[in-house]
Amino acid sequence: MDEKQRILELRALLKRYAYEYYTLDMPSVPDSEYDRLFKELEELESRHPELSDPNSVTQRVGFEILSEFQKVTHDRPMLSLGDVFSYDELREWAKKITDVYGQIEFCAEYKIDGLAMSLIYEDGFFKQAVTRGDGVTGEDVSSNVRTIQSIPMAIPYKQRYDIRGEVYMPKSSFLRVNRERRANNEEEFANPRNAAAGSIRQLDSRICASRGLDGFWYHVPDDVNSDTHYGSLQFARTLGFIVNEKTSLFNDIEDVINFIDETEKIRHDLPYEIDGMVIKVNSYAMQREIGFTSRIPKWAIAYKFPAEEVVTKLEDIFITVGRTGKCTPNAKLSPVKVAGTTVSYATLHNEDNIADKDIRIGDSVVVRKAGDIIPEVVRSIKENRDGSQIPFVFPEYCPVCGGRLYRFEDEAAHYCVNSECKARLVYSIAHFTERNAMNIDGFGEKRVEAFLNNGLLNSFEDIYKLHNRKEDILQMDKFGEKSYDNLIEAIENSKKNSLERLINGLGIRQVGEKAAKILAARFKTMDNLVNASFEELSEIKDIGPITAEYIMDYFKEEDNREMIAQLKMLGVQMEYIDQSVNSDSLFKDKTVVLTGTLEKYSRNEATEMLENLGAHVASSVSKKTDFVIYGAEAGSKLDKARALGVTTLSEAEFENML
Ligand code: NAD
Repeated sequence: MDEKQRILELRALLKRYAYEYYTLDMPSVPDSEYDRLFKELEELESRHPELSDPNSVTQRVGFEILSEFQKVTHDRPMLSLGDVFSYDELREWAKKITDVYGQIEFCAEYKIDGLAMSLIYEDGFFKQAVTRGDGVTGEDVSSNVRTIQSIPMAIPYKQRYDIRGEVYMPKSSFLRVNRERRANNEEEFANPRNAAAGSIRQLDSRICASRGLDGFWYHVPDDVNSDTHYGSLQFARTLGFIVNEKTSLFNDIEDVINFIDETEKIRHDLPYEIDGMVIKVNSYAMQREIGFTSRIPKWAIAYKFPAEEVVTKLEDIFITVGRTGKCTPNAKLSPVKVAGTTVSYATLHNEDNIADKDIRIGDSVVVRKAGDIIPEVVRSIKENRDGSQIPFVFPEYCPVCGGRLYRFEDEAAHYCVNSECKARLVYSIAHFTERNAMNIDGFGEKRVEAFLNNGLLNSFEDIYKLHNRKEDILQMDKFGEKSYDNLIEAIENSKKNSLERLINGLGIRQVGEKAAKILAARFKTMDNLVNASFEELSEIKDIGPITAEYIMDYFKEEDNREMIAQLKMLGVQMEYIDQSVNSDSLFKDKTVVLTGTLEKYSRNEATEMLENLGAHVASSVSKKTDFVIYGAEAGSKLDKARALGVTTLSEAEFENML
């Protein structure tokens, strides 16, 4: 396709996406896809100035208004922001300015993911709230904005006052609203931004009031009461507006970059969504000199965080078999960057999920990865189909052992029920050796598989016979004397574990780390557990009849009883070692939160230690928290603890208390 044709195609496509996003509040593609096509169009247009068009999305802010709200012309245009996606681009932007002005002050702020709003006050009273609209004209949504509790209706300032900021939907409101919509069979909002925009456009302000919106205020276009942007925000705060407390000044763009780095680590802990940071020249006088384009101010820039939702091609679907025999369909993707890492595979969960979302091989799909969450295929983009896409049929046979797959009643998953299936064995043994189970360092799926392929391992018992196979092990790839010694030592040490680790390692259905602890503490020895009755098991709080049934089934199997006997003969101790005897521990019955990275303990180890001392380890800080133990790079939890006056302990202080 020639470039001119591509320009026209992109303009039409982006116009449609903008309409779906701004007017319908229902985008069909993720922002990253829009941004990618937008950049492509900008580049092509710069190569073909003869094709310039004032109606192109690259020349406009937002979208024309098509609503029943009254139109209002802004005192001064409400513009968009230029954006950068890397620190180098950010440095380049800053350099252009510092080359002219020398060292200057930059103000860095969270880029709140909501919708821009202008609030107008006259004679000290709220007069009007206007959306950004097309930048020149917006919609009067005053009746809805009045329902946002944190926005002052009267301020101690008599002159006309225009303050701008973002109306957003906190994450908690978003989850609640979507829960309600699901219950009412209404289409859910794609994200908090669209939910906020959809709520602000409600004609019945009672609906908007029920949505739990809030606002942050970040821009005063006229330099009233201060000659800096930051100063004007401090003044706005004294008038009663909520200015984000993290808004900060820096003299060096490298410090801004550090601030961005820190923010990115804690962004998922914030109670609202941010999609980047905005960096602004602080001095109003400089802002005026640097000026605007028709679409953006040149004195500000948005640094956008790596996208967490992107579009890519689903090349194939394949099945993996887990430790319980559960078969999971996975997507093989054209490699794509998501949340900063390259992703080539994503889970598709199960057969129903693929059918419900009508995901086909060859589709363009939206892939999501937020924080540490495993990448998943969110949906397919049906408009991109060209007829070559193939619907997926779940296989009838296990891809590893060829055994028949079963889907039990009321279960979404398929299972390979062949207990000899190699895939099941690899995962079972890898799980047995895991940190929270027998804690044998030096294993892992890859290595277990290699041991299996070399005939060194075929069961849990074989682990404790590996010291007889030194020669064979040393012949394996990447295995030297040192790693052999370490492995054998870790295996020896694991024999002394307290019972709960072994119970967890067995991989009994629904018996994970927590249930294993409860069972070990209750039955004290493996023999007692093996011989426990259904009544004894099911009456335990947190176990219940279903798990009790699974435990009974497991120990009914002759093979399993034999395996336990063998492990015992090989020296694995099978008794519970009670570590929670320290009743005068300072942590007994206290609620403790861990944050940041501790030097000497992993998160799991610290949690285990505290629980053994009788503490309850919680994940979020509240007034009821007794201690917050913090390590390096502690973020918002530590700030919150300090704000609430909760006792905070460094790692050294924690150790002293121990
Ligand atoms: P933008 O969201 O990239 O940036 C400008 C906006 O940032 C401002 O108008 C303001 O509302 C907001 N903002 C938040 N915090 C701020 C702060 N502290 N200071 C200043 N401004 C702040 O630009 P835009 O023009 O609103 O929207 C364009 C973006 O919208 C695109 O980059 C794309 O990501 C998304 N979009 C997506 C689709 C889609 O189909 N998915 C379609 C159109 C637009």
